Amino acid sequence: MKFTVMTLFPEMVDQVLSASVIGRAREKKLIEVQCMNIRDYSTDKHRRVDDYPFGGGGGMIMQCQPVYECYADLLKTTAQKPYTVYLSPRGSVLTQKKAKQLSEIPHLALLCGHYEGIDERAMEQMDCELSIGDYVLTGGELPAMVLIDCVSRFIPGVLGSSVSAEEESFSTGLLEYPQYTRPADYRGMAVPEVLLSGNHAHIARWRREESLKLTWRRRPELIAALDEAELDKRDREFLARLKNQEK
Ligand code: SAM
Repeated sequence: MKFTVMTLFPEMVDQVLSASVIGRAREKKLIEVQCMNIRDYSTDKHRRVDDYPFGGGGGMIMQCQPVYECYADLLKTTAQKPYTVYLSPRGSVLTQKKAKQLSEIPHLALLCGHYEGIDERAMEQMDCELSIGDYVLTGGELPAMVLIDCVSRFIPGVLGSSVSAEEESFSTGLLEYPQYTRPADYRGMAVPEVLLSGNHAHIARWRREESLKLTWRRRPELIAALDEAELDKRDREFLARLKNQEK
């Protein structure tokens, strides 16, 4: 899978995405990350890419022309048009479900804004706007990197064979159950007995109920959003007991 990041700070993106799991995925060519510097398309002698907003108001706006030409240049090098995302607090919020859908697209082009945003006419080129949450950052680079990180985790081989992004928080519609590793007892804090029992059915049930409990307490709206098929009879009985106990 390929990601093209259109940004004013390509070195920032390249550096962060060279480390850890994503860095290794790039080395193994499981994913490709290409950065394009929007400033290279400025026609201004000082390489400026921003200007004052029409109608007044504070801050500066990224001009349409360099963004437009950067994207046009990208299109010249690709046989198939990439799916193009503008990272923006105005967009719909990126979820695990959306990240999985995006992982099935062979080429994503990500546009990073700066200043007070980008001239709206550049948006004509975008397929969608995505936000990483209801807060405002100074630029789109961190959001683009968040998107690349969580989308890449769905690419086979990126997480290694024994780990699957499908079993994690949100993928099942629930938050993940608590996890433990050795030692079984640390300063008198013991690991739940069931996890040492070797009984896989009991462990699976314990994990399911811990997930339900944690989600019910922390994110009840996620439980409410589950459809009938996602909760079996035992889940429903467990939740009913939990609700009664916590009334
Ligand atoms: N004036 C804009 C507004 O109120 O919606 C905010 C502009 S923000 C300071 C500059 C850039 O950061 C945006 O163009 C966008 O690319 C990026 N950005 C900021 N917060 C973001 C978020 N929550 N999700 C995605 N991108 C974000």
